Amino acid sequence: WEMSVETFDVVVAGGGPGGSTVAALVAMQGHRVLLLEKEVFPRYQIGESLLPSTVHGVCRLLGVTDELAAAKFPVKRGGTFRWGARPEPWTFSFAVSPRMTGPTSFAYQVERARFDEILLNNAKSKGVTVREGCSVTAVVEEGDRVTGLRYTDSDGGEHEVGARFVIDASGNKSRLHASVGGTREYSEFFRSLALFGYFENGKRLPEPYSGNILSVAFDSGWFWYIPLSDTLTSVGVVVRREMAEKIQGDREKAYNALIAECPLIAEYLSDARRVTTGNYGELRVRKDYSYHQTKFWRPGMILVGDAACFVDPVFSSGVHLATYSALLAARSINSVLAGDLDEKTAFDEFEGRYRREYGVFYEFLVSFYQMNVNEESYFWHAKKVTNNEHTEFESFVDLVGGVASGETALAASRLAERSAEFAGAVDQMAGGDDGDMVPLFKSHVVKQVMQEGGQVQMKAVLGEDAAPEEPVFPGGLVSSPDGMKWLPYRG
Ligand code: FAD
Repeated sequence: WEMSVETFDVVVAGGGPGGSTVAALVAMQGHRVLLLEKEVFPRYQIGESLLPSTVHGVCRLLGVTDELAAAKFPVKRGGTFRWGARPEPWTFSFAVSPRMTGPTSFAYQVERARFDEILLNNAKSKGVTVREGCSVTAVVEEGDRVTGLRYTDSDGGEHEVGARFVIDASGNKSRLHASVGGTREYSEFFRSLALFGYFENGKRLPEPYSGNILSVAFDSGWFWYIPLSDTLTSVGVVVRREMAEKIQGDREKAYNALIAECPLIAEYLSDARRVTTGNYGELRVRKDYSYHQTKFWRPGMILVGDAACFVDPVFSSGVHLATYSALLAARSINSVLAGDLDEKTAFDEFEGRYRREYGVFYEFLVSFYQMNVNEESYFWHAKKVTNNEHTEFESFVDLVGGVASGETALAASRLAERSAEFAGAVDQMAGGDDGDMVPLFKSHVVKQVMQEGGQVQMKAVLGEDAAPEEPVFPGGLVSSPDGMKWLPYRG
């Protein structure tokens, strides 16, 4: 005889921002949720620069706004870039103009060990059963449905749990994503390698932008420079994937040589000391991080966050995509559990919106890379899109197909056009720092990338008072006034 299998409404694999967000939003509707996390928090993670829609949209719905404010994370008003044709750095602010700084036009730079712990503890306080040190090993299936998970606890004990819905939020190293069906497609265009570490006492950008991310393009790739406290800075470099062997050989030597090759970063680090002990002491490498799964759900199972897709770190979209997809998944699951919608209608809305948002960032990031074309450099030459190259974009359109609205360009010829428009808008911002942001916000790619995030923020801030929403897809669904479920559109 066997002990009966423990059951929940929903079981979530992974307690990063994606997992803890979806778990909390489902538990807040009174459902029984189990979250299984392999590590014991706090644990290290990369992805420290956030976007406003995470902070003011999803985190407000989660009820962690005050806690985030109390954590005193550096305030990020935007990004400062040495990138494109201009030799001097220029600044992209989340506020349309420096004179119009609104209450939601900032984000935070976060130490992920602390940020992720806040979200996971919040999930616990919202009623989620959280088990740390538990590694999920496989899904349980019955016919074409996923009906549960198997996991190993910290003592090596093996368990099975049953659930109406299983969510894979276990990140890029997910062992479950393939169970959803389809394949994980890696991007050739965004195929790079990142090498990163931490410094004490690096310089800061002048106020009011000392909390900005600084991104600097140079011949071999580009650097991120993220202030994590008054004195701690995250410094990473993105280079060609082909440099893997050389970098793995002697990380320290490669890192120092790349810093020396990039004058602005070398200058910002001239009085700084690299952290060599503790969690920040290691020089880490990540590669093959740009991919998407060709399916995002099957009956009984949904992928959120890096388990489903990630593009490229240049515009800090990872935690946004993870928390936004978690919100979409929670709405779908809450609607089905309440008996409002059938699973296919609800999950197709999830997948359509998620792919569309991913597609919008994909296009935006291609445009970003287009600005820095340097024929002499292998790295930048490979990032050049022309009309007859890069079938990757065409095949990506096929996949996003019918779901991404006609708004999204994503064909090489239109991409090149939109990219030129974007680069032009950057050039129009006279004077860099205090420039007027209007031209940038008017360009197609920026408008789109700010749009859906804006909706989520608006809903969180105004709740029932938000203007009625239009469906994203013809005949599609809209979110409920409290943002927690889907409703049919009655226009
Ligand atoms: P994760 O944060 O990876 O969380 C997954 C969790 O699942 C982990 O806690 C893990 O321990 C757990 N887990 C794994 N396997 C199992 C298992 N078998 N069982 C149970 N639990 C498991 N994003 C940004 O927003 N801003 C940035 O500046 C940024 N910079 C980046 C730089 C680089 C070089 C890279 C590669 C990524 C960057 N990202 C950035 C992306 C960001 O790291 C991710 O998109 C984000 O962490 C995804 O969140 P998630 O919740 O999906 O997954």
